[in-house]
Amino acid sequence: MKKRILTIMALAAVLSFASCGKIVEGQPSNNTKTTTQAAVTASTTAVTTTDENQDATTTVAVTSAATEESTTEAAQNTYTETATEAQQQAVPAGGGEQASNQPAPQQSNGVLSDTAPTPNDYNYGPAPTQYSYDGLTYIQGVLIANKSYSLPSDFNPGLDATCQNQFYKLQNAAAQQGLNIWLSSGFRSYDYQAQIYNNYVARDGQAAADTYSARAGYSEHQTGLAIDVNQIDDSFAGTPEAIWLENHCHEYGFILRYPQGKQGITGYQYESWHIRYVGTDMSYPIHASGLTLEEYFGIDSYYH
Ligand SMILES: [Zn+2]
Repeated sequence: MKKRILTIMALAAVLSFASCGKIVEGQPSNNTKTTTQAAVTASTTAVTTTDENQDATTTVAVTSAATEESTTEAAQNTYTETATEAQQQAVPAGGGEQASNQPAPQQSNGVLSDTAPTPNDYNYGPAPTQYSYDGLTYIQGVLIANKSYSLPSDFNPGLDATCQNQFYKLQNAAAQQGLNIWLSSGFRSYDYQAQIYNNYVARDGQAAADTYSARAGYSEHQTGLAIDVNQIDDSFAGTPEAIWLENHCHEYGFILRYPQGKQGITGYQYESWHIRYVGTDMSYPIHASGLTLEEYFGIDSYYH
């Protein structure tokens, strides 16, 4: 059942600047991007390796299992992604109306669950869109973006629809506990991240900025799978909302991406407000492991 897509590609070492910073929301993009989306199953392990010394782009698909058809060219679909303004708007407090007509969570509030939901469960979070796009790094279906693994400057997917929908479920569950969690910053484009990072460098210097803001092309917000909630600064830490988020976000497919005391591993200071969507099949084991994403996959995060 294991299939592996090995994409080896060339990428100019683009060092611009991005972030996970404290500015609310990226500029809406009106770009319509057409990419090819491979039918990648949950059992697929896709690894993209970036080799800065290569010019050619080579894609090698290695299939070691019987279900070959799901990764053949014939199974590929043309995928059109439009980053709409609505996808990128900050959602105000109590903005979870979109999910209000859905049934109440079967599990959740109060007691930590240790069993991942199945597809019929309310809070089941499927894997997000898997892109076949040169320069992306996937590990076990998880798109990696950190200081070691960058994103192409023209990768501009907008906020992932599944991520957004699961966030609304999370928001509703928190609201049932009297907690107010709102989306402050979701998708940020390469160009907007460059703007944010450069502003921080001008203010604090590059060394300081690098501890809390990503260079363009290295921000998890450019994946469309990261969300900053509420007040994007240290004042959020320790609030009932932050505590609930840390204990329950995995039930909706998110992980707290930059935990306290892990700066040497993740490359970033503690960010109580930054969650990353990976789907519940991944969020449960990662949460149970107590590890950061880097530790869980055995990867590093530093500017090479
Ligand atoms: Zn963030």
